[in-house]
Amino acid sequence: MPADFPFDVVAFDLDGTLADTAPDLTAALNHALGVLGRPPVPAEDVRHMVGHGARALLQKGLAATGEMTEALVEQGFPIFIDYYLEHIADGTTIFPGLEAVLDQLAARGVKLAVCTNKAEGLARRCIDALGWANRFDALVGGDTLPVRKPDPAPLFEAIARCGGGRAAYVGDSITDTDTGRNANIPTVAVSFGFSDRPVGELDAAALIDQFDELIPTLERLGEAGDWLACSICGSARFVARQKRGYVQCDGCGSNERARLLWMTLEKHGLLVPGKRVLHIAPERAFAERLHAIWGDGYEPVDIDPALYDFAPNIRKIDLVEDAARLPSDRYDAIIHSHVMEHIPCNITAILYHLNRSLKPGGKQVCCIPIIRDGHSAEDLGPLSAEDATMRFGQDDHVRTFGGADIQRTLGMIFRLPESYDLTVAFDEATLIRNNIPRINWRGWSPNSVLVLQKEDLLLTA
Ligand SMILES: [Zn+2]
Repeated sequence: MPADFPFDVVAFDLDGTLADTAPDLTAALNHALGVLGRPPVPAEDVRHMVGHGARALLQKGLAATGEMTEALVEQGFPIFIDYYLEHIADGTTIFPGLEAVLDQLAARGVKLAVCTNKAEGLARRCIDALGWANRFDALVGGDTLPVRKPDPAPLFEAIARCGGGRAAYVGDSITDTDTGRNANIPTVAVSFGFSDRPVGELDAAALIDQFDELIPTLERLGEAGDWLACSICGSARFVARQKRGYVQCDGCGSNERARLLWMTLEKHGLLVPGKRVLHIAPERAFAERLHAIWGDGYEPVDIDPALYDFAPNIRKIDLVEDAARLPSDRYDAIIHSHVMEHIPCNITAILYHLNRSLKPGGKQVCCIPIIRDGHSAEDLGPLSAEDATMRFGQDDHVRTFGGADIQRTLGMIFRLPESYDLTVAFDEATLIRNNIPRINWRGWSPNSVLVLQKEDLLLTA
C-alpha cells in the first residue's frame, strides 16, 4: 500500500464520472434514431439514459420516441456504434479538476482503474481519445466478464488487474453505489454526473461536488477501517431485497430497520443482562441474540407463535384481547416493528397499555411504518384482502400512518420529535457503516425507528 494513502486502488466509472460523454452519446443516438426515422432526443434526457451500455441506451432512445422493438434495436445498434466510434470524443470533456487528482493519486503510488458498463472496446477507444492511453492500470468494461455492474465481479476484476489491495470506487449512479455496496467497497458519488435521482439519495460512502474534494474524502474514508458491517452480526456482505437495493444482511438476514432497532437498543443501554423485555412479532435476525443477553427476562410474543419457532419460549398474545391485561410497570423495553398497522382495534388503546406496562423510564423501541408524505387511514373492516392491499399496502393491514399528519395521530399520544432525523442520534459514518440507506436518515419513512419513553405519554392528567 502507498505509505501515505489508505487505498491501493481507486477505480472509476467512466460515463458521467471521469468524463461528460453525453454530447457524443447524444449525437450517436440521435444519428441512429434519425436513420430509423425518429426525432432526436434532447441531450438532457440522454444523460439519464446512460449507464447500462450502448444497447440499453438505444432501447431507451427508441422507447422515448415511439415503439421499441428488438428488430429496431438490431437494425439501429451497428449504426449507433459505427457513428459513435468515429466521433467518440468530439464533444466529450473531462470533468474539471480530475487530471490533477489522477496525477496526485498516481504520484502517491495508487493504482487507477476504470470499471464501466460501457463495452470494453468503446471504453478503450474513449479513454485513448481523451489522451489517457497510459493513464489507467486496468480497464474492465460491460462485456469484459459475463456479468456487469451492479454485480461486484467487474469491480473485483478491475482491482485484481491492478494487483489487488484495499480499494475505493468512484461513480455517479445508483448502479455504481449498488456495485460498491455489493462488493463492500466504499464508493464516492459525484454530484455532477448523469444520475436521474439526487445523488444525496444514493447510498454512497461519501458525496463530492468537485474532484478536488476526492483525495481528502478518500483519506477520511480510509480512517474508518472496514466499510460495511452489520450492526447485529458483523457480516460485511449484503444482498438485494426486492427494490430496496442491497439492504439485507447475508449473515443474520436483517433488513435496515432490524439493524436500526438493534443500534437503538444498544444506544439506549438495553443490550445488557438483567433487563425484562417484551418483543412483539420478534425479528428472526436477533430473537436468539436477545434471549442470550436477557435470558428469562426476554419475552417474545405474537398472535401466531407458530410463525416464530426460532424465538425461544415464544408465547401467544392477541393484543386486541390481551393488551389491557398486560401487567403494569413490568418491562424495561417493549420492542415492536411493523406491528401497529396490523391490529384491528383502537390503536391508541393498544399504545396506552403498552406504555402502562413499561417500568418508569421504560421505552418502546419500535418501528411504525410511516408513509413519507402520506396521510393516516384506517378501516377496521370487514375488509377483503384485495381492499386491504390496495388501501393499506398489504392484505393484513388495517391502517396506514402518514408523515403529513403524524403529529395529529401518534403525536397526540406521545411527544414526538418535530421531524425525524436519525443523524441526531447516530453519526453519519455509523449509519453508512451499518448500511442504513440514506433515504431513511431524514423524514418519516416505513423504516423510522422511534423510542417512546414511558414519560413521553401525553394522555395524562
Ligand atoms: Zn447481520
